[in-house]
Amino acid sequence: MEHIYITNNLSETKKIGRKLAKKILSFSDRKNAFVIALKGDLGSGKTTFLQGFAKGLGIQEKILSPTFVIFKKFPFFADKRNFYHIDCYRIQNSKEILDLGFKQMISDPKNIIAIEWAERIEDILPKDTLTLEFEFINKTKRKIIL
Ligand code: ADP
Ligand code: MG
Repeated sequence: MEHIYITNNLSETKKIGRKLAKKILSFSDRKNAFVIALKGDLGSGKTTFLQGFAKGLGIQEKILSPTFVIFKKFPFFADKRNFYHIDCYRIQNSKEILDLGFKQMISDPKNIIAIEWAERIEDILPKDTLTLEFEFINKTKRKIIL
């Protein structure tokens, strides 16, 4: 089922992220990682959303827009689980992500993986990936399709 949200400021976007994180933490008995694909233009709110999402997972560290870093691992729950933040903005092809050990990353049910610019690695995303689309409406409004 598709949900459409309109947020009026960045804290509303973060709040939706926080709620989704709580929901995902309530899922059990998964056989592989939970993968979230975030699509949408620069400035549409993907990283902002993930700041709220990480908070919802109980991660204290701030999620940043990776400029030179392609991915960052955030252990949480005393390192029993991991949140990976991947940003494909700078990559040329899926192989660069596969070379980071992506296959192993997505096979571990302890992992939650959020991928910005996921449209660039469409061919290697698992079938059960949750896709979120971000759209810029105006300076302060964003549309999020979940
Ligand atoms: P992306 O990761 O998609 O490039 P960012 O989250 O880094 O986008 O940037 C979004 C920018 O838009 C931030 O500067 C943020 O302050 C601003 N902004 C304004 N309104 C909103 C909103 N409703 N939701 C999210 N970000 C917003
Ligand atoms: Mg970003």
